[in-house]
Formats: sequence, C-alpha cells, structure tokens
Amino acid sequence: MNIKLHQISERVSKFDFQLVRKDLLKLDDRFAFDSMACTAELIEKRGAILLYGTYSVEMETNCNTCLKPVSVKLDQEFDLNLINEESYAEPEGDVEISLGSADVDFYRGQEIVLSEYFEDQLLLDLPFSIKCSQECKGICPNCGVNRNTESCRCPENYGNNPFSALGDLEH
Ligand SMILES: [Zn+2]
Ligand SMILES: [Zn+2]
Repeated sequence: MNIKLHQISERVSKFDFQLVRKDLLKLDDRFAFDSMACTAELIEKRGAILLYGTYSVEMETNCNTCLKPVSVKLDQEFDLNLINEESYAEPEGDVEISLGSADVDFYRGQEIVLSEYFEDQLLLDLPFSIKCSQECKGICPNCGVNRNTESCRCPENYGNNPFSALGDLEH
C-alpha cells in the first residue's frame, strides 16, 4: 500500500490494508500465510512522518528442531519516524533527528511504501527459535529418528544445535 505525502497532515490519517504473502519477498519461504492485516496511522511531526503500525498474522511454519508443522501468531505494534532520504543526506537539511524513542527509517520521493516497513518489522518480530513445545527433543541429527516419538542409541547431546535438523534438510 502506497500513501502519497499530500495524504498525510498534522492530524492522524489511518489506513487499514492487507499485505499478501507473495508480495513479501524478504521473508523466508518457511513461513506460509495468505495475508496479514495491517493498520497504519500516519502523522506529520517536525519534518518527519510518524508511523504507528499494528499488524496481525498467523503463519504456518515448522518446528525448528523436529519439523512438525506449527502455527505462529503475531499481534504486534511498532513506531517509526520516517525521514525523507534526500533531506537527510543534506547537512543543511532542517530535519530534526531528536524525535523521541521511535526508530528512524527512510522514504524516497513523494510516497510512503507502507509494505516495506511492515515486512521489515515482521522480520524483526519473528521468534528466534520456533518449537512445537518447550520439551521438543527434535530429530536426531545422527540417525534421523524423531526423538519425541522414538528413542535411539545415539549420544544424547549429539548435534545440539537447534538449526542442525534444518541444515540437514537443505543439503
Ligand atoms: Zn518439535
Ligand atoms: Zn539417533
């Protein structure tokens, strides 16, 4: 969703939209969903544009250690100060960078491409480790047995790296 600068003023403008999975190119293929529901509130403040975003998405993915399908639901919110890239590059530009605690990002030209910020935020919000349960024992990297349902005779701590199961799949 693209917002023209003239649509933004010193009063909050609110936009509801859906981001379609296939348009999110940076997100790893392991995360599947149809669309995510987004809300953006934009307001012009001291030469920058303040973006308050919320989104909700339920993704199908796999447990990092045993590869069982799991769904991950995210309901998140974020604040960003958007600064025009060109005015930021000029040292004499009248943009104030002291814009409170929100992070700073950039826009180009006369348009705010909202999907970029929501996709970047989704990438930031992804859990570092996705497990089907706290107790998941994963797949034995040595013999391939699912340690949740079967046991094997390999050493207990063989390849304790949580990404080893995925690494094996990809090679
Ligand atoms: Zn698991
Ligand atoms: Zn084993």
